Formats: sequence, structure tokens, C-alpha cells
Amino acid sequence: MASSVTNYQCPSCTGPLHFHGATGKLKCDYCSAEYEVAEVEEMFAKKEEAARAAGTPSKEEAEFQKAAHGWSDDEAERLRAYGCPSCGAELICTENTAASTCPYCGNPTVVPSALTGGAMPDAVIPFVLDQQAAKQALQNYYKGKKFLPKTFAAQNHIDEIQGVYVPFWLFDGEAYGDMVYRATKVHKRQTQSEKIEITEHYDIYRKGHLSFEMVPVDASSKMPDEHMDAIEPYTYENLQEFSTAYLPGYFADTYDEDEEKCSERAQDRISQSVKDAFRKSVKGYSSVTQKKEEISVSMDPATYAFFPVWLLSTKWEGKNYLFAMNGQTGKLVGDLPVDRKLFWLWFAGIALPLMAILSFVLLGGIL
Ligand SMILES: [Zn+2]
Ligand SMILES: [Zn+2]
Repeated sequence: MASSVTNYQCPSCTGPLHFHGATGKLKCDYCSAEYEVAEVEEMFAKKEEAARAAGTPSKEEAEFQKAAHGWSDDEAERLRAYGCPSCGAELICTENTAASTCPYCGNPTVVPSALTGGAMPDAVIPFVLDQQAAKQALQNYYKGKKFLPKTFAAQNHIDEIQGVYVPFWLFDGEAYGDMVYRATKVHKRQTQSEKIEITEHYDIYRKGHLSFEMVPVDASSKMPDEHMDAIEPYTYENLQEFSTAYLPGYFADTYDEDEEKCSERAQDRISQSVKDAFRKSVKGYSSVTQKKEEISVSMDPATYAFFPVWLLSTKWEGKNYLFAMNGQTGKLVGDLPVDRKLFWLWFAGIALPLMAILSFVLLGGIL
């Protein structure tokens, strides 16, 4: 039976090809030969078509796999086993896996059958930065972090580093806002005999439309939403039409949170932006409170795209730390451990003089 997965091997030496961000070409790990994306598409079109046609395992195959691996019903539902086209070893994937790497021979594999119909992205931002850049970004991230335990940075062993194409929905929308604010302007004057304070009261009305284009929301339940939101923005200049030739060498999962579900998060973000934009236009007052808020958002069908993310994980004193880096811009986010001793020393150093001032002020107040 034809394999449902494809690997991309160098035509001159059969070494594994992977997409190389710096050049935008596919490069051979062995002989360093380089190929254009379009060339690779053409060379592997037949292989990919065959893999796509082979599709997902038949009912009998699925039953056989379930029994062979001792999977539960739930696992059998989610998991897929494929034979690696390079070494024949078995690759265990999930139903959402679109690209992976064989753990035995290290060859990048793509699962074209996972990218059929609605699961086929419209667009992709290819990787620009490589693994080395991700490691360097993490080093830079540690710098100047006051409470980072010294041993954490010094022993910095990255347990895992992986380039992942994360599925995103990009929403276009039109928002309408109708807001009323109550504001005051306070004027103070001092004459020889009295203090005069005049407060003017205003009702402020704001109405208008705002258009939004390609608001991104990550569509994978596996990715922490806060990390994904925090590594934005992506720039859309090198948003390309999707091709599987950008995938070799990276992991990729198709979406498991659909457009409808993600649309709520996009609407929330758009509403918040409308609120912020309107509020920003109310300037020059002593106080502003919002009295009315009416925001409606209408959404167009979303664009489905893959965005590049480097995931780095480290373990320290039994705890896992996950970092995410934007594979296009290099923006990195993540949590760091805090050296409690350093923290309290600092706190004591700052807190003592503050407390002294505070008690002085309090005493002054009482006396
Ligand atoms: Zn080669
Ligand atoms: Zn293999």
C-alpha cells in the first residue's frame, strides 16, 4: 500500500531536505544543495499526490493498529501510525499532525492526507529565523533579569527545541461603536481670601466604524494562548500562498479549534481595540467615566494560515519552563524562575527605607 506520508529527499544524494529560513530555499542536510520552493513542489508533486490519495488508514487497518498498539477507543480515535518512508520505522502521530520528524532516522516527514479539504491552509508565513537564533534569543532574554537564579542561566540546558508551524485563523471584521462618556474639567484658583474650584461637566459622544484586517487567533488547543498572543505581531509582508514545501524540518498541526470557536476570541480583541481607540480620542479632561458602550462586530470568513514559532523548553529543579519565539521576528516570551533569596534581599533593601518614610509621614500626620 502507498504510504500516507511523504519525505523530501535530495535528488542528488537522497539526504533529508529541510526548509531553510535565511535563504527561503530547501537545503540538503548532507550535501548542502539548495532548491527553490517551486522546484521542490514540482519534483514531489506526484509523491505527495500518492500520499494524499492513500489517505487515512482504512477501517481494517485502523482496527489492526489499535490492537497492535493496545490503544483504547479514545487513543485509536486520536492516534495514527505511519511507516517512515526513509527507514521503515513506525511514526506515531495524532490526527492533527501535518508535519513531523522521524525519531529514528531524523528525516522530516509531511502528512499530506492531514492537509485535505478544510484542513489545507490558505496561507503560510515561512520560518525566517533558525534554531541558532532561538537559542541566542533565549540567552538574551536571561540578560538583565534581576531575580533569575544564577545556576538557571549558567546551566542553561535546553531540553527541547522545536520549530512548529502553528495554525491561526485570520479574521477580517467591521466594528461599529457607540459610546458615551461623562467627563469633568476642574479649574482651581487662589485669591487672597479664598480658594476657588470650578468643576465643568461634559457629556461626550463618540460613534463610528472601524475596519479590521487579518486579526490573528491561534487555532491549536495545545498552544498556550497567552504565549501565542504575546509573541505577536507577525508582519504579513511575507505571507505566502500555502505549500507543503515550507514544512519539511518542522512540526505542524492542523487546527483543532474551529473558525467559529476562535471567532469569539477575535471579536473580544476587536471590541477591546474599539474601546481603546474611542477612549483615546477623549482627551484633556480631569476625569472620564464611561456611561454607555455599544459595540457590534461583523466578521467575514477567516483566512486559515500557518505561522512559525520556535518552542524551547527547559527543566529546572523539577519544574518545566516553556518559551515561545516568533519565528519571523524573534520576539520571545516565557516564564522564568525567581531566586527567592535575591528577591527578598532586594525587597528588604527597597522596602526598609520606604517603610521608614511611611512611618515618618504617618507620625507627622498624627503629630
Ligand atoms: Zn544532498
Ligand atoms: Zn525514519
